[in-house]
Amino acid sequence: MAAAEILEVRPGLYLGGVAAREQCRLREAGITAVLTVDTEEPSGDTEGLQTLFISARDEPETDLLSQLDNCFNFISRARADGAAVLVHCHAGVSRSVAVVTAYIMKSEKLTFEDAYGNLQTIRPEAKMNEGFEWQLKLYQAMGCEVDTSSAIYKQYRLQKVTEKYPELQNLPREVFAVDPTLISQELKNEILYKCRKCRRSLFRSSSILDHSEGSGPAAFAHKKMAPLIMNTGDETKCTSYFIEPVQWMESALLGVMDGQLLCPKCSAKLGSFNWYGEQCSCGRWMTPAFQIHKNRVDEMKMLPLLGSQTRKT
Ligand SMILES: [Zn+2]
Ligand SMILES: [Zn+2]
Repeated sequence: MAAAEILEVRPGLYLGGVAAREQCRLREAGITAVLTVDTEEPSGDTEGLQTLFISARDEPETDLLSQLDNCFNFISRARADGAAVLVHCHAGVSRSVAVVTAYIMKSEKLTFEDAYGNLQTIRPEAKMNEGFEWQLKLYQAMGCEVDTSSAIYKQYRLQKVTEKYPELQNLPREVFAVDPTLISQELKNEILYKCRKCRRSLFRSSSILDHSEGSGPAAFAHKKMAPLIMNTGDETKCTSYFIEPVQWMESALLGVMDGQLLCPKCSAKLGSFNWYGEQCSCGRWMTPAFQIHKNRVDEMKMLPLLGSQTRKT
């Protein structure tokens, strides 16, 4: 199809390029809701239109994943109100296709392959970039709901930071887990990990980025970022915990690509980090990697009622 055309991919759901947004075409198709995913917000008359603008370049590095729930909600609300919806980008090939694929995955409970394949039979030119493909597979792994507290999302966010890392002057605050010495109340039902030598609290179980099979982005090796994540993780062979960075690591991480992780209190060597990734003893690669050797820490289980700690054996 020419970029000027509007293609109906589901009843009342249209896909197209930038020309599809012309007023006369919208009127012709009876479209009253427009989702634009492009670098520039379209100008012009929006009277009588519900609009949503998502700023995104058509590049594998672009974070579309974080916007997918927002897009889904906009499309479903409009359709529930009986509105016909247009999702468009510039060429109607990659960005809008990724958004519509995610919508179909969630609304029709289809896998990424089935939803994307179905869309390509309707629109053979549909070809999202490989970064978006990877993000939609992560979306699927999260149950088509962006869960920012999940290991999958945390690892994804870290990889996004890594892509920009060498140029970064500061790491975004939100990639760091709160230092567990600064919190006590939220620790209920969580395991706390302490330095074996000096007992300083280091991280919580919610910071562990599980890399067992199928549970993380490792299951969907991103060609560019993680070329070596192909082995099947076997947790029993893992001699390290791979975790998200914790606040006490900040000064050690900044400005270098790799190094040791030392206890912030007694300076005992706990593990290592590498923005390019490290291999776990089970064979799995993690990118980036912040690993703490299991034999350098003790697990402390928080008892929900007493609020006291017992050492797990
Ligand atoms: Zn492992
Ligand atoms: Zn220590």
